[in-house]
Amino acid sequence: MHMNQCLFCKIISGNIPSKKIFEDENFVAFTDIHPKAPVHILIVPKKHIPSVNDIESSDANLIGNLIFCAKNIAKDVGLVDGYKLSFNVGKEGGQEVFHIHLHLMGGWKK
Ligand code: AMP
Repeated sequence: MHMNQCLFCKIISGNIPSKKIFEDENFVAFTDIHPKAPVHILIVPKKHIPSVNDIESSDANLIGNLIFCAKNIAKDVGLVDGYKLSFNVGKEGGQEVFHIHLHLMGGWKK
């Protein structure tokens, strides 16, 4: 899919509304519209990388920072007892939106 038609590119640019939790020059985080946990946040690099399968060696720093960003957001939203981080990769992996994103889920015991 061309990035002009990508749902998450439209959220990043503000053309589609979202409940933004965090934004810096490289990442946006917003709440999942169909949450599968009491807290369900998607952390999305602004760079349009379709999937984990499309990560190149030059993206290694960005992807490391994506996890670092998720850890900081988890702390900010109060997930002090733990949480899940996950990538769905490709159709068989359950990926629906082909703009790489990290699922941050938690809050079950609150
Ligand atoms: P995945 O299956 O890993 O591609 O995850 C895509 C996620 O995006 C799903 O959990 C959807 O609920 C979520 N989603 C789809 N559209 C939106 C939207 N407009 N705003 C926020 N989350 C969305």
